[in-house]
Amino acid sequence: MKLNYVEKWWSEYRGVRFEINRNTMDCDGTKFFTFYILLHKEKMSKEMLSRLSIKKKTFRGHGFYPTSNVDIGFHGGCTFYDKEKYGLRIGCDYNHLHDNEMHYTLEDIVSDAKECIDALLLKFPNYKRWCGNCGVVTDIFNGKISEVDEGCYSFKCIECVKKAEVNRG
Ligand SMILES: [Zn+2]
Repeated sequence: MKLNYVEKWWSEYRGVRFEINRNTMDCDGTKFFTFYILLHKEKMSKEMLSRLSIKKKTFRGHGFYPTSNVDIGFHGGCTFYDKEKYGLRIGCDYNHLHDNEMHYTLEDIVSDAKECIDALLLKFPNYKRWCGNCGVVTDIFNGKISEVDEGCYSFKCIECVKKAEVNRG
């Protein structure tokens, strides 16, 4: 028996975590990408959580997700939805619909994921940030973002910024 396998990458961009998978199918070795945006409950306002939530816990496929809720330019629309302990996992897949002949690179998917996150933050600019220094979750205006707002440590809360300034003398 051959086994399917998945390669995974994840990162954070502008305080939003995302995950990219490359799936390899046992039947013919076909590879296809998927990506997911991982939204944490403690970073979402009640309004954001309720706008993005649907009744079902899990959904796969097209057309189930009201696009008015999360029209952020997912490739081919949102096709994955999971309610997780930490919050929501929503995403899309490649090489499944009208694009079977396309060749995508990891860089293509990263750039699409970042565009989706940009669109998400336009709709929900108050998505909270995690301080890469002390781990507190706080409002975006209550801290400082590094110029390259990528990775998990690009935001520091105001207390940590102050401490760093004091230590520098
Ligand atoms: Zn902090």
